[in-house]
Amino acid sequence: MWLNCARRCGGALFRPLFAEVEVDASGQYQGYQLLQPGYICLNCGAPAMDLGDVPTTMASDADEDLAATAADVLCPVCETLVSVIPGDDCPNCGASLEVAPS
Ligand SMILES: [Zn+2]
Ligand SMILES: [Zn+2]
Repeated sequence: MWLNCARRCGGALFRPLFAEVEVDASGQYQGYQLLQPGYICLNCGAPAMDLGDVPTTMASDADEDLAATAADVLCPVCETLVSVIPGDDCPNCGASLEVAPS
């Protein structure tokens, strides 16, 4: 997790919006439980975003894009340049195409 102020005010302290604080019998703070993710910047009050999540999300998106990228292939049967997703048949004549991984 890496919290960051949405206004980029430079504040380094944040407060969870939905948290339950646990105290012992004398009222001393023991710990907390987050009920929902959600933080505000203590410096300016703007919502804070968890930038620690972003890289993994973007990486998995990129993987999905790569898997479904169409490639231009010259069909050996009808000799037409067609754009197919790897594993698909020629949309022109229906011949099965071998798409070389790029
Ligand atoms: Zn702030
Ligand atoms: Zn073809």
